[in-house]
Amino acid sequence: MKFMTVEQYQLVKNQAKKILNTVTTSKDQNVIQAVQALVQEEIDAKLTFQDIEEQLILQPIFTIQSKEQLELFLESIKQYVEPFKVPTDNQIKKLFPKDKKVKLPKLDGMDFREVTYLSWFDAGTNRKYIVFYEDGVLKGVRGVFDHTEKKGICTVCNRHSKVGLLLVSKNGTQLGTYTKKGNYICENSEICNEELTDINRLKEFVDNLR
Ligand SMILES: [Zn+2]
Repeated sequence: MKFMTVEQYQLVKNQAKKILNTVTTSKDQNVIQAVQALVQEEIDAKLTFQDIEEQLILQPIFTIQSKEQLELFLESIKQYVEPFKVPTDNQIKKLFPKDKKVKLPKLDGMDFREVTYLSWFDAGTNRKYIVFYEDGVLKGVRGVFDHTEKKGICTVCNRHSKVGLLLVSKNGTQLGTYTKKGNYICENSEICNEELTDINRLKEFVDNLR
């Protein structure tokens, strides 16, 4: 029973880190209990459980006291995560019909239980590709990516990080015209995926570019 999506897993991971951070910085039981209550609330709001057994799987989150326990907890719940389904080169080609040479980068060693969206950069064309599933259907967006070396708020994960500008062209209302839309997003998509705990933000981001 894989009862967590990747972004739900990332949410649980972030909550687990919050608990560890609290118990290592505070001795005050009231503070710790308040944080635990908030974590429970967040989990109840963002995850759906089929039965009590699934709920119990996450309960050790409240006993985390050390970095080692955090890692063990995350390892123990990973088997319940529905991993990102790697598309074929053909599926990728269909998503980006205008691009002559587009194919998936090397994905060896990647943990797909950490991936909500797959992203790669083509240094030859300066294009950054983003693919993800919306209700089971593979979607994609790509644009010219400008490595700004700046820090800012990422449109996808909403966190403050090192961002770059993704410029996406879209057809205008008149034939032959087009407009460009720019968004700042994390340069490092691995970090972005770790912070992405709400798939709706990703959907909105892509919808805005269409
Ligand atoms: Zn991000």
